[in-house]
Amino acid sequence: MSLDEIKTAFTQRGDKAFRGQQVYEWLWKKSCIRFEEMSNLNAETRNWLNSNFIIHAVKVEDKQISSDGTIKSGFRLHDGLLVEGVLIPADDRMTACVSSQVGCSLTCKFCATGTLNRERNLTPGEIYDQVVLIRNWAQTHYQKPLTNIVFMGMGEPLLNYSNVLGGIEKITSPEGLGMSSDRITVSTAGIAKMIVKLADDNVKFNLALSLHAANDTKRNQIMPINESNNLHAVAEALRYFHSKTKKRITFEYIAFNNFNESLKDAKELLDFCKKVPCKVNIIEYNPTGDNQFEKADTAKIDNFCAYLERNGIVARVRRSRGKDIDAACGQLANKKHEEAIVS
Ligand code: SAH
Repeated sequence: MSLDEIKTAFTQRGDKAFRGQQVYEWLWKKSCIRFEEMSNLNAETRNWLNSNFIIHAVKVEDKQISSDGTIKSGFRLHDGLLVEGVLIPADDRMTACVSSQVGCSLTCKFCATGTLNRERNLTPGEIYDQVVLIRNWAQTHYQKPLTNIVFMGMGEPLLNYSNVLGGIEKITSPEGLGMSSDRITVSTAGIAKMIVKLADDNVKFNLALSLHAANDTKRNQIMPINESNNLHAVAEALRYFHSKTKKRITFEYIAFNNFNESLKDAKELLDFCKKVPCKVNIIEYNPTGDNQFEKADTAKIDNFCAYLERNGIVARVRRSRGKDIDAACGQLANKKHEEAIVS
């Protein structure tokens, strides 16, 4: 419920609107999930809330900690479905990686989430709750504040557009967590129409594109979404996004062995990079268990990256984090939790 809706519920029972404001603050600012704990309300009001409303809180199912400090959890939603979220600690930052949908509809061939069906969209509240829970781990495990949020968990954020924007609105609002939009990155497989909409909505967060091949034939093979949103359409949308927001786009590029890491591939990527101000993150492929793809050779990845840099592109190789607990990019598939439940 919005603040106005909660206030109205109070005035309709003959109470003061500011009680609604108090409840809203408990829910969103103090992340309270039990009416009994709303200590500035009297017992009668708390009972009334209890018998008329439900808080659909996201609950931590289990927590796995990687040898590199990455923490992953299954989050149980009120209807029993599961998503995953990750905290990635580094010297200079604490990053939360959150999900936007239960499962995913895009069936990217290299991604473990792509093997799941898309069950439903997450609500703004569920997106927000993941951030709150992961933010608590940053405090309890590392005594550090959460600094960054990436929408790189399960799902395609731009196919759950209004809820993702609603979640970000709460995360950035002073009524919520008051975090800066500059520290938030939404990652998309490339839904051109929605990238244009982001620009028209004048969003303040950062945008990343999961590119992985700068050639339509290759990209079609690994990302079926490319058939309806080809590289030209996506590039045009990104140019528009940049013209409106002035933000530089991040391209994510998984290096697959013998597929997209040759000099020819690097040249194609360089040409694509010239279309819009960008930087490139080259990502190691993380195995998902289907044996279709292999990680590219480390020396080849470094050469690939060096070629881009020599040609004036900001490019970095990103080493994987949390691989031993299936928390790395593309490995989120609710594996362990379902096993735990069955046994
Ligand atoms: N649907 C969005 C959000 C998911 S982000 C998107 O596609 O961007 C997940 C990131 O992990 C994407 O960049 C994705 O391409 C990458 N990824 C998926 N599977 C991977 C794998 N097996 N190894 C490394 N990265 C992977």
